[in-house]
Amino acid sequence: MNKFKPVDPIKSPRFSGIKSFMRLPHTTTLENVDFAIIGVPSDAGASFRTGQRDGPAAIRKISALLRHHNPVIDISPFDYISGIDYGDLPVVPGYIEEGYKRIEENLFPIVDAGIIPILLGGDHAITLPELRSIVKKHGPVALLHFDAHSDTVDEYFGKPYNHGTSFKRAVEEELLLVENSIQVGLRGSIYSKDHLNIPKNLGFEVVTAEEIREIGFTKLLQKIQETIGKNKVFLTFDVDFVDPAYAPGTGTPEIGGFSSGETIDLIRGVKDLNFIGFDVVEVLPSYDPSEITALLAANVVYEFISILAYKKRLEG
Ligand code: MN
Ligand code: MN
Repeated sequence: MNKFKPVDPIKSPRFSGIKSFMRLPHTTTLENVDFAIIGVPSDAGASFRTGQRDGPAAIRKISALLRHHNPVIDISPFDYISGIDYGDLPVVPGYIEEGYKRIEENLFPIVDAGIIPILLGGDHAITLPELRSIVKKHGPVALLHFDAHSDTVDEYFGKPYNHGTSFKRAVEEELLLVENSIQVGLRGSIYSKDHLNIPKNLGFEVVTAEEIREIGFTKLLQKIQETIGKNKVFLTFDVDFVDPAYAPGTGTPEIGGFSSGETIDLIRGVKDLNFIGFDVVEVLPSYDPSEITALLAANVVYEFISILAYKKRLEG
């Protein structure tokens, strides 16, 4: 039981060692594993700034700061669950469709083994092949999508695949229970007057940043719960959900977002949902000189791990 856990920071300084996530063991075993941290160092789908390929390494590096007890959920996750850092999935720089195939194929054995994947991006294009893989195991899933953007554009430059089209393609490929899926935090200038209607017409529940400020987090959390219900849900977290003052290291920043503190509160608030996987995308280290975006992403992942442990504790 709980075979794999991080190195003890009281016995070994946190700046030492090879940088796996939280200094978890780096192994590709699929036995006695509840969750796997998996890097997807791809920026083949980035439409503006590039460099998200360096996201997984930056998140891993700063994750050494994370301590083993979460006082808000009041849980020491590794008392309940076993986790590994699986390393990175193979990608193909410059060839997005080939990269998609490799991500989908190489993620599948992990998901098929009943392990919850926590993927570190990478630009947001990676979520499409992740979902393809997950749906092969679970069937269509609900989506909980934190983002400044809906990522439901039909095409860019005449091409169907990039980080702005993932969820249009996901609906077309019937990967989602779209009536049970919700996009939260949308904001900023848009391509056309009716652009915000695109995700709504696809079937997503949409709550913009302005609407969140109007209704408050309690009502937002109720709306999320009502939309998703007990369905299996994949949480995709684009760091540009957070204001660029707190998360400057990203590809397409939008002002008027949420603070890192508000973000962590929100994620703790969804802990009772039936999660089957998570990703954190769009960390771009070359625009993140003080590592605060990577630090935020690492803490978001820590909350995911805490949620998984919390659910295991509830099961008894
Ligand atoms: Mn996105
Ligand atoms: Mn975005």
